[in-house]
Amino acid sequence: MIENVFSGSDISEFRIWMGWADRYVILTHMGPDGDAIGSSLGLYHYLKSKGKEVVVIVPDSAPDYLMWLPGAQDIRVFADDPDASEDLVYKADVICCLDFNVVGRIGKIAASFLYSKAKKFLLDHHPYPGANYDVILSHPEASSTSELVFHLICALGGFKSIDKDLAQCIYTGIMTDTGALSYNSNNSNLFMVVAHLLEKGVDKDLTYRRVYNTYSESRLRLQGYVLNEKMQILADCSTSLITLDDDELRRFNYKKGDTEGFVNMPLQINGVLMSAFFREDKEQGVIKLSFRSVGDVPCNRFSSDVFNGGGHQNAAGGEFHGTLDEAVARFRKGLEKWSKSDEECIRILFAK
Ligand code: 5GP
Ligand code: MN
Repeated sequence: MIENVFSGSDISEFRIWMGWADRYVILTHMGPDGDAIGSSLGLYHYLKSKGKEVVVIVPDSAPDYLMWLPGAQDIRVFADDPDASEDLVYKADVICCLDFNVVGRIGKIAASFLYSKAKKFLLDHHPYPGANYDVILSHPEASSTSELVFHLICALGGFKSIDKDLAQCIYTGIMTDTGALSYNSNNSNLFMVVAHLLEKGVDKDLTYRRVYNTYSESRLRLQGYVLNEKMQILADCSTSLITLDDDELRRFNYKKGDTEGFVNMPLQINGVLMSAFFREDKEQGVIKLSFRSVGDVPCNRFSSDVFNGGGHQNAAGGEFHGTLDEAVARFRKGLEKWSKSDEECIRILFAK
């Protein structure tokens, strides 16, 4: 029997809003990934099936490998028409915030979000939710926000209204946030959710191929270059570092999403327990930082201690304002500081 993570009282306010609220805006984080888009479109389909006016607004566009998802063509990119998007945010009755914890993660949408008089609802699995919401359903132990959307819909009595399109969006979010059920997914309840989604018509093998096996040739060559020439192994601290500057990205005809997954690769090496990937984003004038770790090593703490970033224990990120070389220098200093720690979860990085 599937166990719902939400009790009746958790969702009582949302249920009341559903009674009177007609206009819904769904927001998700910058650089939207499979879970951000999957959870947003899952909830989008549900609210539409209930006759609601609903729009998904993202700060910047989703990568191509997600644009085949049902409803993806209806997503509004804030940056494409900020005035019209702001208007929708102001006029919304309810704003659903999915897959992010703090408003800093929605970039320029934050100003209109904070100003809007709409009811604000957070549904998320990142730790440390912010305070700008009327209702917060935060479950860091969940595999993904998409899994939480499934539970929310069921708690609202909507299991029957989950059709193949909706199930497809939710499955994609679960798949991408768990590396196709290879991490963050040691949970029989999650597999029951997945079983239900398959029964609704999702083809999980096809979903995998559509998301992971649609690379361009230049993307795969960039991966080869990274592994051959750019991956540094800092054996003394069980850590790896990959950097890519703008020239290198151009050389390989970089497109949004092309470096997705690079940060995970060094963890395939025996003895590497933490991995960092820094990418120069010239358009936004920042260095994008990604961290991954294994087991008890808290890469989110490294990200927040050293770069003011955040995330989950084993998957974190942040931004650095400065040059790539400066980011690397800060990274090395951060590791040096960590090497003096006497906390067990950090010491394992330096144990010989
Ligand atoms: P990714 O490496 O896939 O970009 O991000 C991994 C995780 O790190 C995300 O799920 C999110 O929790 C967190 N994250 C990514 N970028 C940022 C950021 O700029 N600030 C904070 N606080 N967290 C981030
Ligand atoms: Mn997520």
